[in-house]
Amino acid sequence: MNIAENLTELKNTLPSYVSLVAVTKTKPVSDIMEAYDVGHRVFGENKIQEMESKWREMPKDVQWHMIGHVQRNKVKYMAPFVHLIHAVDSLKLLKEINKEAEKNSRVIKCLLQVKIAEEDSKFGMGEADALQLLASEEFKKFKNISVIGLMGMATFTDNEVQITNEFQKLKKFYEQHQNAFQFTTLSMGMSSDYNLAIANGSNMIRVGSAIFGERNYN
Ligand SMILES: *Cc1c(COP(=O)(O)O)cnc(C)c1O
Repeated sequence: MNIAENLTELKNTLPSYVSLVAVTKTKPVSDIMEAYDVGHRVFGENKIQEMESKWREMPKDVQWHMIGHVQRNKVKYMAPFVHLIHAVDSLKLLKEINKEAEKNSRVIKCLLQVKIAEEDSKFGMGEADALQLLASEEFKKFKNISVIGLMGMATFTDNEVQITNEFQKLKKFYEQHQNAFQFTTLSMGMSSDYNLAIANGSNMIRVGSAIFGERNYN
């Protein structure tokens, strides 16, 4: 695996308005530093403790994105440094993030994860619930969070028509409410589907294995 080469080639193909979160879960710091050394600074992890330990080890100009499901009792571990939390799916979780952000005198940026996959996925909010959250009085009182957009994951399938439909659905929802909520960020697309995601409105992709190679979970 030539990480630097994979990363550089991928970045050269991306439109300038698309930002790349290089997903480093399960990968050692030595691999991540290969990407760092060719100038990349934006990395994503899906487990808070793994992200925290990498944050401690690595240079402090890295922007760490939490892309996985977040348990409320672990928010405190990332609140001092996390750059963007992608998968917020409840008001209760936002409340906890707001509380921990306040303790750290920070405003933490978040995305709401919206369910787009036809498959029955556990995570993400329905569109109506997301709107209700954004319009709620409790949400409006939170001073230490900023919801800057939406995140979605398509069904894991080879069916490009289905994936396109799912991305389209989120793009449409995003555009409908972009002005009202001042959204700037639509996070969709991973190694297998980032081209489709960009073609369907994504401006932030989360790519791991296409840069760092397959993950080994043993
Ligand atoms: C692991 C992960 C990715 C990246 O997956 P790849 O297929 O390796 O690119 C993107 N988004 C989320 C939420 C992930 O957990």
